[in-house]
Amino acid sequence: MNKLPRNIAVLGSTGSIGQSALAVIAASNGRLRAIALSAHNRLEALEAQSHKFHPRWLIASNPDTSKAYDWSTIPDECELVWREGGLERIVREEEVDVVLTAIVGSAGLAATWAAIDAGKQIALANKESLVIAGPLIMDLAKQRRVSIIPVDSEHSAVFQAMASGRQKEVAGIVLTASGGPFRNRLLDELATVTVEEALVHPTWNMGKKITVDSATMMNKALEIIEARWLFDLTPEQIRVVIHPQSIVHSFVEFIDGSVIAQLSPPDMKIPIQYALNYPYRHAGPAERMDWTSRMAFDFEPADWDRFPALALGYEAARRGGTTGAVLSAANEAAVSAFLRRRLRFHEIVPACQSVLLAHTFDANPTLDELFQIDRWAREEIDHWVCTSSR
Ligand code: NAD
Ligand code: MG
Repeated sequence: MNKLPRNIAVLGSTGSIGQSALAVIAASNGRLRAIALSAHNRLEALEAQSHKFHPRWLIASNPDTSKAYDWSTIPDECELVWREGGLERIVREEEVDVVLTAIVGSAGLAATWAAIDAGKQIALANKESLVIAGPLIMDLAKQRRVSIIPVDSEHSAVFQAMASGRQKEVAGIVLTASGGPFRNRLLDELATVTVEEALVHPTWNMGKKITVDSATMMNKALEIIEARWLFDLTPEQIRVVIHPQSIVHSFVEFIDGSVIAQLSPPDMKIPIQYALNYPYRHAGPAERMDWTSRMAFDFEPADWDRFPALALGYEAARRGGTTGAVLSAANEAAVSAFLRRRLRFHEIVPACQSVLLAHTFDANPTLDELFQIDRWAREEIDHWVCTSSR
C-alpha cells in the first residue's frame, strides 16, 4: 500500500498508545493522516485532538458521557459519531486504510473484528483481541488477506526479526520482560503493594491496566498467548527472559542457532511508526539509541514463584478454546477491582486462576460464545471480590 496520505483510524486516541500514535502522525510530513479518532471518556482530550488533527470522524464511544458533552466547537468538517456501533461502522469506511486498535481490554475486540472483516490493514495494539479470539481472528485475517502488524514492542521485535528467515526455519522466540517494579521485592511483601506503587513502571510509561499487568507479569502471560496465535507457534517455542533495561525487545532463534533481536529505546513510538508505515520505514520522532555511552544489558530467568501469572499464560496458550477469553476478562475485572481498592495486589492472579478452574471449557467457541464467557468471567470476579476473606 503506497497511497499517500495513508489514512489511519486511531481507536483509543486519548490513551497512551493513541497519543504516541498521534505524535508519529504529526511528525510524518503528511504521509500519515488521522482520519478517525475515538475515545470513551476524557472527551475534552478528544475534542482538543479534533482541533489539531481535523479528522473526518470523531467517535465518542460511550453514549452516556458523549450525549451530555457540548460538541458545538468541533471543526465543521468533522462528523461526530456517538451511537452504539459507531466504531464498527467507521472502521469499515472506504477512506480508512489502516486501523490502529489502541482501545484497552476486550472492548477493543468488536472493532478489531469489523476492521479485519472489512479488509483493512491492522496495527494491533489491543493484544486482548488475540488473547480472547486468536484462532478466529487469524482465520478471518487469512480469508480477507489482511496483514496484522503488531504494535506490542515484543511482537513488533519478533515480527521484524522473523524477516531474517522463513517460518519453517524458526526454532522459537524469546519474549523479553522488564520484570516490572517488584522484580526484587521479597515475596511476602507483595501482599502490601499499594495502587500507587503498582502504577509506577521502571522503564515504560503506559495506561493503568497494562501497568498493573506488567507488575503482576500478567502482561507477559497475555503476550505469550498473543504470540502463539499471531506467529502460529507452539507454546513450547515461546520463552520469556527478564531484561530490566527494556532495550532488547525480543529475539527469534532460527534452526541453525542464529539469534536475531530488535533493539531500540523503550519508546512505543518506534513499534507504532513501524506498524503504521509498514512495509516501509521512515524517520520518526522517537528517541534513538546513543551508542557513544557505556551500557550493559542483563538477562535473567523469570521467577515463576514470584510471577504465577506466567504459568496461566502458558496454560491458556496450550489449551486455547475459551481459556484466553476467561483469563483476559477475569484479569481485566480483577485489575479494575484492585484499582478501586477492592482487591489486594497479590490476589489478582489467584482470582484469575480460580475463575479459569471454574469455567466450562469449550475447545471451539464462536465469537458470540466468547463475548458471553467474557461477561461470565467478570461476574465471577465480582463474586470473588465480595466473598474473599479480606
Ligand atoms: P489507555 O488506558 O492509556 O487508553 C485506552 C484507550 O481506550 C483510551 O483512549 C480510552 O478512551 C479507550 N477506551 C477505554 N475503554 C473503552 C471502551 N469500553 N470502549 C472504547 N474505547 C475505550 O491504554 P494503553 O496503555 O494506551 O493501551 C491500549 C492497548 O494497547 C491495550 O490493549 C494495551 O495492552 C496495548 N499496549 C499498550 C502499550 C503501552 O505502552 N501503553 C504497549 C503495548 C500494548
Ligand atoms: Mg509488550
